[in-house]
Amino acid sequence: MNVWTPAFVGLGSNLADPSRQVEQAIGELGQLPGCRLVSHSRLYISAPMGPADQPHFINAVAGLLTRLEPDRLLDALEAIEAAHGRTRGGPHWGPRTLDLDIIAMGQLELATPRLTLPHPGAHERNFVLVPLAEIAPACWLPGHGRVADLAEAIGDSGLGRLAKGRV
Ligand code: ADP
Ligand code: MG
Repeated sequence: MNVWTPAFVGLGSNLADPSRQVEQAIGELGQLPGCRLVSHSRLYISAPMGPADQPHFINAVAGLLTRLEPDRLLDALEAIEAAHGRTRGGPHWGPRTLDLDIIAMGQLELATPRLTLPHPGAHERNFVLVPLAEIAPACWLPGHGRVADLAEAIGDSGLGRLAKGRV
């Protein structure tokens, strides 16, 4: 793509020093060819979805400008996950060293077997909406609404913000 498109990436980790995994990954997003890191939220701590007998998650959201096609951006995110030792095949929503999801790319709406945009769970997860609202409150999540409104409606139950200074 020749045009630069805003893209928001959700980061999550609950293994192997999760805060470090997330902080490092934010830096690596900024090194991706065809991408510029514009902003990122602070780190949040959230109770796990799915199996409850796993550590809490550390979450954040990064704002990029990218000229990569959506599939190529997902390739790049999967490469970063792999470099962080992410293995697939564990339980759905089970523990992981690093999960990188594309929350949205501009106003694009897409549903392919590999990629759905906006991310199908984003609008119902406070650990995505609250950090996203920190960096892009006026952003419109296609099909759902204004990020600040969605974040306010969902609330911050089970979610904590880590002390300033970690990122
Ligand atoms: P989780 O749902 O916990 O993020 P995975 O990271 O294993 O689980 O992702 C499951 C699948 O979701 C991936 O194989 C990927 O192809 C697909 N997927 C669909 N839409 C998206 C998106 N917007 N961002 C990231 N992955 C997506
Ligand atoms: Mg994922």
